[in-house]
Amino acid sequence: MFYSGEQLKKVFLKAKKERFGIIASNVVFDAQIRGILQGYEAQKSDGLLQMSSGAVKYAAGTTKNMETGAKVISALIKILAAQYNNSGVGLHIDHATPNYFDFVVYCIENDLVSSVMIDASKEDFAENIRISSEVVKVAHKYGVLVEGEIGYIKGTEDEIVSDDELYTQPEEALEYVKKTNVDLFAASVGTNHGVTKGAKVKLRLDLIKEIDELLIKNNLERGIVLHGASGLTAKQQTDAIKNGVVKINKDTHYQMDFAREVQAYWEKEKDSIKKPDNVSEDDYTPDKKRFDPRKWVIKSELAIQQSVEELVQITGSANNSILL
Ligand SMILES: [Zn+2]
Repeated sequence: MFYSGEQLKKVFLKAKKERFGIIASNVVFDAQIRGILQGYEAQKSDGLLQMSSGAVKYAAGTTKNMETGAKVISALIKILAAQYNNSGVGLHIDHATPNYFDFVVYCIENDLVSSVMIDASKEDFAENIRISSEVVKVAHKYGVLVEGEIGYIKGTEDEIVSDDELYTQPEEALEYVKKTNVDLFAASVGTNHGVTKGAKVKLRLDLIKEIDELLIKNNLERGIVLHGASGLTAKQQTDAIKNGVVKINKDTHYQMDFAREVQAYWEKEKDSIKKPDNVSEDDYTPDKKRFDPRKWVIKSELAIQQSVEELVQITGSANNSILL
Protein backbone atom coordinates (compact mmCIF):
# COMPACT_ATOMS: atom_id res chain seq x y z
CA MET A 1 0.00 0.00 0.00
CA PHE A 2 0.96 3.65 -0.22
CA TYR A 3 1.92 5.30 3.08
CA SER A 4 1.04 8.78 4.25
CA GLY A 5 3.69 10.72 6.15
CA GLU A 6 2.17 9.60 9.46
CA GLN A 7 2.39 5.92 8.48
CA LEU A 8 5.93 6.39 7.22
CA LYS A 9 6.85 7.92 10.57
CA LYS A 10 5.79 4.62 12.20
CA VAL A 11 8.00 2.72 9.75
CA PHE A 12 11.07 4.75 10.74
CA LEU A 13 10.29 4.60 14.47
CA LYS A 14 10.04 0.81 14.29
CA ALA A 15 13.24 0.59 12.26
CA LYS A 16 15.15 2.82 14.68
CA LYS A 17 13.86 0.97 17.73
CA GLU A 18 14.59 -2.49 16.33
CA ARG A 19 17.74 -1.36 14.51
CA PHE A 20 17.04 -2.30 10.94
CA GLY A 21 17.36 -0.16 7.83
CA ILE A 22 14.82 1.05 5.28
CA ILE A 23 16.01 1.02 1.67
CA ALA A 24 15.12 4.22 -0.16
CA SER A 25 15.14 3.57 -3.90
CA ASN A 26 15.44 6.27 -6.54
CA VAL A 27 13.02 5.89 -9.43
CA VAL A 28 12.21 7.62 -12.70
CA PHE A 29 9.98 5.34 -14.78
CA ASP A 30 7.46 2.54 -14.49
CA ALA A 31 9.65 -0.56 -15.01
CA GLN A 32 11.90 0.43 -12.08
CA ILE A 33 8.87 1.19 -9.90
CA ARG A 34 7.31 -2.21 -10.64
CA GLY A 35 10.51 -4.10 -9.96
CA ILE A 36 11.13 -2.28 -6.68
CA LEU A 37 7.55 -2.62 -5.37
CA GLN A 38 7.57 -6.34 -6.26
CA GLY A 39 10.83 -6.73 -4.36
CA TYR A 40 9.47 -5.09 -1.19
CA GLU A 41 6.23 -7.11 -1.38
CA ALA A 42 7.98 -10.45 -1.95
CA GLN A 43 10.05 -9.86 1.20
CA LYS A 44 7.23 -8.25 3.26
CA SER A 45 9.38 -5.16 3.70
CA ASP A 46 8.39 -1.54 3.88
CA GLY A 47 10.36 0.86 1.76
CA LEU A 48 10.65 4.29 0.32
CA LEU A 49 10.74 5.38 -3.29
CA GLN A 50 12.34 8.68 -4.06
CA MET A 51 12.47 11.08 -6.97
CA SER A 52 15.18 13.62 -7.63
CA SER A 53 14.62 16.96 -9.36
CA GLY A 54 16.16 15.47 -12.53
CA ALA A 55 13.82 12.47 -12.34
CA VAL A 56 10.67 14.57 -12.21
CA LYS A 57 11.87 16.69 -15.13
CA TYR A 58 12.50 13.53 -17.16
CA ALA A 59 9.14 12.00 -16.22
CA ALA A 60 7.31 15.01 -17.71
CA GLY A 61 8.94 14.62 -21.15
CA THR A 62 10.60 17.45 -23.07
CA THR A 63 8.55 20.12 -21.27
CA LYS A 64 10.50 19.13 -18.12
CA ASN A 65 7.57 20.44 -16.12
CA MET A 66 8.35 19.37 -12.57
CA GLU A 67 4.80 19.49 -11.26
CA THR A 68 3.65 17.22 -14.10
CA GLY A 69 6.56 14.85 -13.59
CA ALA A 70 5.92 14.56 -9.86
CA LYS A 71 2.22 13.85 -10.48
CA VAL A 72 3.12 11.10 -12.96
CA ILE A 73 5.57 9.37 -10.60
CA SER A 74 3.30 9.73 -7.57
CA ALA A 75 0.25 8.37 -9.42
CA LEU A 76 2.21 5.40 -10.81
CA ILE A 77 3.44 4.47 -7.35
CA LYS A 78 0.09 4.96 -5.62
CA ILE A 79 -1.80 2.85 -8.19
CA LEU A 80 0.76 0.03 -8.32
CA ALA A 81 1.35 -0.04 -4.54
CA ALA A 82 -2.39 -0.36 -3.88
CA GLN A 83 -2.14 -3.97 -5.13
CA TYR A 84 0.01 -5.04 -2.19
CA ASN A 85 -0.96 -5.80 1.42
CA ASN A 86 2.26 -7.17 2.92
CA SER A 87 4.37 -4.11 2.32
CA GLY A 88 3.99 -0.37 2.11
CA VAL A 89 5.98 2.43 0.55
CA GLY A 90 6.13 6.17 0.84
CA LEU A 91 7.30 8.63 -1.79
CA HIS A 92 10.11 11.04 -0.96
CA ILE A 93 11.68 14.00 -2.77
CA ASP A 94 15.45 13.49 -2.89
CA HIS A 95 17.92 16.42 -2.57
CA ALA A 96 15.65 19.40 -3.15
CA THR A 97 17.97 22.41 -3.07
CA PRO A 98 16.57 25.79 -1.87
CA ASN A 99 15.74 26.89 -5.45
CA TYR A 100 13.12 24.09 -5.52
CA PHE A 101 11.33 25.35 -2.39
CA ASP A 102 8.08 26.14 -4.28
CA PHE A 103 8.12 22.73 -5.97
CA VAL A 104 8.48 21.01 -2.59
CA VAL A 105 5.53 22.99 -1.21
CA TYR A 106 3.48 22.08 -4.30
CA CYS A 107 4.11 18.35 -3.77
CA ILE A 108 3.21 18.60 -0.08
CA GLU A 109 0.04 20.60 -0.62
CA ASN A 110 -1.14 18.31 -3.41
CA ASP A 111 -0.63 15.11 -1.42
CA LEU A 112 1.95 13.70 -3.85
CA VAL A 113 4.58 12.73 -1.27
CA SER A 114 5.03 11.28 2.23
CA SER A 115 8.37 12.95 2.93
CA VAL A 116 10.78 15.46 1.43
CA MET A 117 14.46 16.24 1.64
CA ILE A 118 15.59 19.83 1.82
CA ASP A 119 19.26 20.00 0.93
CA ALA A 120 20.54 23.44 1.92
CA SER A 121 23.91 21.98 2.91
CA LYS A 122 25.76 24.27 0.50
CA GLU A 123 24.39 27.35 2.29
CA ASP A 124 26.04 28.59 5.45
CA PHE A 125 24.89 26.87 8.62
CA ALA A 126 22.47 29.60 9.81
CA GLU A 127 20.85 29.78 6.38
CA ASN A 128 20.58 25.98 6.21
CA ILE A 129 18.73 26.06 9.53
CA ARG A 130 16.43 28.88 8.37
CA ILE A 131 15.45 27.19 5.07
CA SER A 132 15.09 23.72 6.61
CA SER A 133 12.82 25.15 9.33
CA GLU A 134 10.61 26.77 6.70
CA VAL A 135 10.15 23.42 4.96
CA VAL A 136 9.44 21.66 8.27
CA LYS A 137 6.76 24.25 9.08
CA VAL A 138 4.85 23.55 5.86
CA ALA A 139 5.45 19.77 5.80
CA HIS A 140 4.44 19.05 9.39
CA LYS A 141 1.14 20.87 8.87
CA TYR A 142 0.36 18.05 6.39
CA GLY A 143 1.98 15.23 8.37
CA VAL A 144 4.80 14.99 5.80
CA LEU A 145 8.29 14.06 7.09
CA VAL A 146 11.40 16.14 6.40
CA GLU A 147 15.00 15.05 5.86
CA GLY A 148 17.75 17.67 6.12
CA GLU A 149 21.49 17.57 5.45
CA ILE A 150 24.57 19.03 7.07
CA GLY A 151 28.06 18.58 5.70
CA TYR A 152 28.56 17.69 2.05
CA ILE A 153 28.55 14.24 0.51
CA LYS A 154 31.17 13.90 -2.20
CA GLY A 155 30.37 12.79 -5.74
CA THR A 156 27.71 13.33 -8.36
CA GLU A 157 24.06 12.47 -7.97
CA ASP A 158 21.75 13.83 -10.56
CA GLU A 159 21.97 17.64 -10.33
CA ILE A 160 23.98 17.53 -7.10
CA VAL A 161 27.73 17.71 -7.63
CA SER A 162 30.26 18.07 -4.85
CA ASP A 163 34.02 17.79 -5.29
CA ASP A 164 34.73 18.04 -1.59
CA GLU A 165 33.64 16.11 1.38
CA LEU A 166 32.84 17.86 4.63
CA TYR A 167 32.18 15.53 7.55
CA THR A 168 29.15 16.30 9.71
CA GLN A 169 30.14 17.57 13.16
CA PRO A 170 28.10 16.01 16.03
CA GLU A 171 27.57 19.36 17.81
CA GLU A 172 26.29 20.91 14.60
CA ALA A 173 23.98 17.93 14.06
CA LEU A 174 22.51 18.47 17.51
CA GLU A 175 21.98 22.19 16.98
CA TYR A 176 20.52 21.59 13.53
CA VAL A 177 18.00 18.99 14.73
CA LYS A 178 17.06 21.08 17.77
CA LYS A 179 16.45 24.25 15.75
CA THR A 180 14.77 22.76 12.66
CA ASN A 181 12.90 19.74 14.10
CA VAL A 182 13.63 17.66 10.98
CA ASP A 183 12.55 14.01 11.22
CA LEU A 184 15.59 12.52 9.48
CA PHE A 185 18.94 13.86 8.56
CA ALA A 186 21.65 12.98 6.10
CA ALA A 187 25.08 12.89 7.65
CA SER A 188 28.28 13.10 5.67
CA VAL A 189 30.19 10.16 7.10
CA GLY A 190 32.47 9.04 4.27
CA THR A 191 30.17 7.62 1.59
CA ASN A 192 30.22 9.06 -1.93
CA HIS A 193 27.43 9.58 -4.43
CA GLY A 194 27.99 7.37 -7.48
CA VAL A 195 29.82 4.09 -7.87
CA THR A 196 32.70 4.18 -5.39
CA LYS A 197 33.19 0.65 -4.18
CA GLY A 198 32.95 -0.34 -0.53
CA ALA A 199 36.62 -1.16 -0.13
CA LYS A 200 37.61 2.39 -1.09
CA VAL A 201 35.03 4.05 1.17
CA LYS A 202 36.21 5.02 4.61
CA LEU A 203 32.91 4.79 6.43
CA ARG A 204 33.13 6.76 9.69
CA LEU A 205 31.12 4.45 11.98
CA ASP A 206 32.54 6.30 14.99
CA LEU A 207 30.99 9.52 13.71
CA ILE A 208 27.58 7.93 13.09
CA LYS A 209 27.62 6.51 16.61
CA GLU A 210 28.76 9.78 18.17
CA ILE A 211 26.01 11.76 16.42
CA ASP A 212 23.34 9.20 17.33
CA GLU A 213 24.34 9.05 20.99
CA LEU A 214 24.50 12.83 21.31
CA LEU A 215 20.98 13.19 19.88
CA ILE A 216 19.61 10.44 22.15
CA LYS A 217 21.24 12.04 25.21
CA ASN A 218 19.41 15.27 24.38
CA ASN A 219 16.04 13.56 23.81
CA LEU A 220 16.26 14.32 20.11
CA GLU A 221 16.68 10.83 18.67
CA ARG A 222 16.37 10.86 14.89
CA GLY A 223 16.96 8.52 11.99
CA ILE A 224 20.28 9.07 10.29
CA VAL A 225 20.34 8.75 6.50
CA LEU A 226 23.18 7.24 4.52
CA HIS A 227 23.55 8.68 1.02
CA GLY A 228 25.81 7.29 -1.67
CA ALA A 229 25.36 3.74 -0.34
CA SER A 230 25.25 1.86 -3.66
CA GLY A 231 28.84 0.63 -3.46
CA LEU A 232 28.90 -0.35 0.21
CA THR A 233 29.51 -3.92 1.31
CA ALA A 234 26.82 -5.80 3.26
CA LYS A 235 28.88 -5.49 6.43
CA GLN A 236 29.37 -1.75 6.03
CA GLN A 237 25.60 -1.35 5.74
CA THR A 238 24.73 -3.50 8.77
CA ASP A 239 27.43 -1.76 10.84
CA ALA A 240 25.99 1.63 9.90
CA ILE A 241 22.50 0.48 10.93
CA LYS A 242 23.74 -0.83 14.28
CA ASN A 243 25.18 2.61 14.94
CA GLY A 244 22.02 4.61 14.17
CA VAL A 245 21.43 4.71 10.40
CA VAL A 246 17.81 4.07 9.48
CA LYS A 247 17.49 5.06 5.81
CA ILE A 248 19.86 3.81 3.14
CA ASN A 249 19.68 5.41 -0.29
CA LYS A 250 20.11 3.37 -3.47
CA ASP A 251 20.15 4.77 -6.97
CA THR A 252 23.26 3.78 -8.91
CA HIS A 253 22.82 0.12 -7.94
CA TYR A 254 19.54 -0.14 -9.89
CA GLN A 255 20.87 1.87 -12.81
CA MET A 256 23.62 -0.72 -13.17
CA ASP A 257 21.11 -3.60 -12.94
CA PHE A 258 19.05 -2.04 -15.67
CA ALA A 259 21.95 -1.36 -18.04
CA ARG A 260 23.56 -4.77 -17.47
CA GLU A 261 20.42 -6.71 -18.36
CA VAL A 262 19.68 -4.61 -21.44
CA GLN A 263 23.24 -5.00 -22.64
CA ALA A 264 23.20 -8.79 -22.11
CA TYR A 265 19.96 -9.13 -24.06
CA TRP A 266 21.09 -7.02 -27.01
CA GLU A 267 24.50 -8.61 -27.13
CA LYS A 268 22.67 -11.85 -27.91
CA GLU A 269 19.83 -10.50 -30.05
CA LYS A 270 21.57 -7.76 -32.01
CA ASP A 271 20.89 -9.39 -35.38
CA SER A 272 17.11 -9.26 -34.72
CA ILE A 273 16.90 -5.64 -35.89
CA LYS A 274 19.49 -5.92 -38.66
CA LYS A 275 18.56 -6.95 -42.20
CA PRO A 276 20.84 -9.74 -43.51
CA ASP A 277 22.89 -8.64 -46.55
CA ASN A 278 21.48 -11.41 -48.77
CA VAL A 279 17.82 -10.38 -48.21
CA SER A 280 16.27 -7.42 -50.02
CA GLU A 281 14.52 -4.62 -48.14
CA ASP A 282 11.15 -5.75 -49.61
CA ASP A 283 11.54 -9.34 -48.46
CA TYR A 284 12.85 -8.50 -44.99
CA THR A 285 10.39 -9.27 -42.17
CA PRO A 286 12.01 -8.76 -38.80
CA ASP A 287 10.98 -11.07 -35.98
CA LYS A 288 8.91 -8.80 -33.75
CA LYS A 289 8.97 -11.33 -30.92
CA ARG A 290 12.67 -10.68 -30.42
CA PHE A 291 12.61 -6.90 -30.09
CA ASP A 292 9.24 -6.17 -28.48
CA PRO A 293 10.36 -3.91 -25.58
CA ARG A 294 8.36 -5.96 -23.08
CA LYS A 295 10.60 -8.90 -23.87
CA TRP A 296 13.80 -7.17 -22.71
CA VAL A 297 12.64 -4.45 -20.33
CA ILE A 298 11.14 -7.18 -18.13
CA LYS A 299 14.63 -8.65 -17.63
CA SER A 300 15.84 -5.37 -16.14
CA GLU A 301 12.71 -5.10 -14.06
CA LEU A 302 13.21 -8.56 -12.56
CA ALA A 303 16.90 -7.88 -11.92
CA ILE A 304 15.93 -4.78 -9.95
CA GLN A 305 13.37 -6.82 -8.00
CA GLN A 306 16.10 -9.34 -7.20
CA SER A 307 18.40 -6.56 -5.97
CA VAL A 308 15.70 -5.12 -3.71
CA GLU A 309 15.04 -8.57 -2.25
CA GLU A 310 18.73 -9.01 -1.45
CA LEU A 311 19.08 -5.48 -0.05
CA VAL A 312 16.13 -5.70 2.36
CA GLN A 313 17.49 -8.98 3.65
CA ILE A 314 20.84 -7.32 4.34
CA THR A 315 19.33 -4.31 6.12
CA GLY A 316 16.87 -6.47 8.09
CA SER A 317 13.62 -4.85 6.91
CA ALA A 318 12.46 -8.12 5.29
CA ASN A 319 9.47 -9.58 7.21
CA ASN A 320 9.30 -6.39 9.25
CA SER A 321 6.54 -4.36 7.57
CA ILE A 322 4.34 -2.43 10.02
CA LEU A 323 1.38 -4.08 8.21
CA LEU A 324 2.26 -7.59 9.42
ZN1 LIG B 1 22.11 11.72 -1.91
